[in-house]
Amino acid sequence: MGYLKEVQGKGVHDHFNNNKIVVMSSSGSCVGVPGAVIVGAGPSGLAAAACLKQRGVPSLIIERSNCIAPLWQLKTYDRLCLHLPKQFCELPLMPFPANFPSYPTKEQFVAYLEAYKTQFGLELVYNHTVLSAEFDDQCRFWRIKTIGMKQEEETEYVCRWLIVATGENAEEVVPQIEGMEDFVGTVLHTSSYKSGELFSGKNVLVVGCGNSGMEVSLDLCNFNAHPSIVVRDSVHVLPQEMLGRSTFGLSMCLLKWLPIRLVDQFLLLISWFMLGDTAELGLTRPELGPLELKKVSGKTPVLDVGTLSKIRSGNIKVFPGIKRLKRHSVEFVNGKVENFDAIILATGYRSNVPTWLKESGMFSDKDGLPHKAFPEGWKGESGLYAVGFTKHGLLGSSIDATRIAQDIEVQWKGEATHFMSFPHAPPTQSLLKS
Ligand SMILES: Cc1cc2nc3c(=O)[nH]c(=O)nc-3n(C[C@H](O)[C@H](O)[C@H](O)COP(=O)(O)OP(=O)(O)OC[C@H]3O[C@@H](n4cnc5c(N)ncnc54)[C@H](O)[C@@H]3O)c2cc1C
Repeated sequence: MGYLKEVQGKGVHDHFNNNKIVVMSSSGSCVGVPGAVIVGAGPSGLAAAACLKQRGVPSLIIERSNCIAPLWQLKTYDRLCLHLPKQFCELPLMPFPANFPSYPTKEQFVAYLEAYKTQFGLELVYNHTVLSAEFDDQCRFWRIKTIGMKQEEETEYVCRWLIVATGENAEEVVPQIEGMEDFVGTVLHTSSYKSGELFSGKNVLVVGCGNSGMEVSLDLCNFNAHPSIVVRDSVHVLPQEMLGRSTFGLSMCLLKWLPIRLVDQFLLLISWFMLGDTAELGLTRPELGPLELKKVSGKTPVLDVGTLSKIRSGNIKVFPGIKRLKRHSVEFVNGKVENFDAIILATGYRSNVPTWLKESGMFSDKDGLPHKAFPEGWKGESGLYAVGFTKHGLLGSSIDATRIAQDIEVQWKGEATHFMSFPHAPPTQSLLKS
């Protein structure tokens, strides 16, 4: 078959040196990875790699982008700060610097992640998109196929443990709205929105009233644009801080002592005192309380960073759902028609796991999230793991990463010779069979 065989590193028996076996063929290369392959270099992937490293287990992170945490570096708006206080967002084994504010800016968060990567000496491959990952029953290894920047650059990674860290926000959700192709103004997703500077003096419609939609509306206001926001469903808006503490931190604390319904009632009472009746502004509250709703549906309450007062002062208008778009205007379900220069879709993201992971037991085909809810969704069969699909933000990622590393460490130590001495690893020809 004319394979060119190259073994990278002479000490292939010393798997603690992170050596890999690289086999080249005319159709691409095949890389044997000792330890785990982690797909995705966001905060979750980095956390998993660091926890493994600390326990002496090597790993390789494969990232489709050209940097770590591209969601934060490339797809978020300029004014973004962490929505939750820093103590709930730090990754395992390394706290945020003491001089960081309570809500670090995105630049500070990215700097922290860069320092994290360096501190643990994490190994990454950039610009490689995972096209498929499948467990090979015959040789009992995962086969992960990637494509590089140049489309012909295919690589197959073979490993014992596969950690899915592609996140809940892998792909933009772009709704199909009637007449969208007729609208002549700008239409963009929040992932491409940087600041309101470009929209000064313009009428802009923000579709979606989650944390991003609310904050983008505020940002547009601050740049003298004329924003309106579509609020289709009911939504809980809470103050970011109450009684001198972060609402999130206070909730966590109260939940230790009180039932969730009582905590919800407390949060809603304080919110009513601080924000007034949000229904009067067009933001009706769901029947379930904010924490119970989050638990049941995963829907996160909006933490107000100043948008409500702009709605109250009339600087941001609220509209119900969209019926259709026309050339220059939008018709709403209540029959009103308004002219807009631009539409910003704050319509969120979804997981892309079903597009590449060839496995049906752990992840749902419907939403790309683990079937089992947090805290049970981190472990699948045959050495498959998931980090960061908890709907509990970075705190959830940290908990997952720690558990995964503990679990793999036990197997790694038990099978200390599993890869390099190949007790049940496939011969090279078998690795290259496809
Ligand atoms: C605007 C915004 C603000 C947020 N603020 C907070 C906050 O304050 N606190 C908090 O706890 N949470 C917050 N979150 C939620 C969550 O914690 C973050 O989204 C966080 O980035 C999740 O990390 P992750 O590593 O799981 O996913 P991501 O950061 O999305 O990383 C996944 C990585 O996988 C890569 N990838 C995807 N598919 C492939 C593929 N096929 N092949 C190779 N690589 C692939 C992606 O390029 C990406 O780098 C926020 C989310 C958003 C969108």
